[in-house]
Amino acid sequence: MTPQPLSSKGQFLTKRISALLVALVAAGAMFAALAWPASAATPKSQNGWTVIKSASSTKLATYKVPGTKHGLVLRKGDAGVLLVDFANWYNKHVEKLSLYQAGDDYGWSYRKIRGSSTTYSNHASGTAIDLNATRHPLGTTAAHSFSTKQIAAIHTRLKRYSGVIRWGGDYSGRKDPMHFEINKGVTATHKVYKKLFPCHTPVGC
Ligand SMILES: [Zn+2]
Repeated sequence: MTPQPLSSKGQFLTKRISALLVALVAAGAMFAALAWPASAATPKSQNGWTVIKSASSTKLATYKVPGTKHGLVLRKGDAGVLLVDFANWYNKHVEKLSLYQAGDDYGWSYRKIRGSSTTYSNHASGTAIDLNATRHPLGTTAAHSFSTKQIAAIHTRLKRYSGVIRWGGDYSGRKDPMHFEINKGVTATHKVYKKLFPCHTPVGC
């Protein structure tokens, strides 16, 4: 039996369906093109934590630390809490955070490492702090602005975090004595957080 030609209505419908399929495929391709680079290109800071671009991100929180003018804006959760725990101790036992210049303490900042055009600073992921920045300039040694006793106290305190917090004063190359940063990934950081704050509910990372 010879197939019957499609009626004009049937042809119209077939064309409509074909057009729709073409449009769907095109839309799918566009979506893939738009979505894929966005997720694949989410940059990470030097320590592997994802970069936070906007100050209004829900991944950030402002933590109050005595002596800081505006508090410390940091990655909400484990990383931020550990850095604030350290900053609080520093304010009590090393030097007041307002001692040299109020407002020279920093957390999150969307930027690259000073002098680098490619690598994001750990400040960009909200996982680093600068304390009394004007007193402890980048490129100077810890001994330049800290006493031997203060340096020893900082090293002793850092043991509390099992390597999760690293001091820029201990860098092998250019030193950064104002700077403290998370130096491990999400899992290791969470483990230390839970060890130190077992009663707290994790608030995300
Ligand atoms: Zn810094």
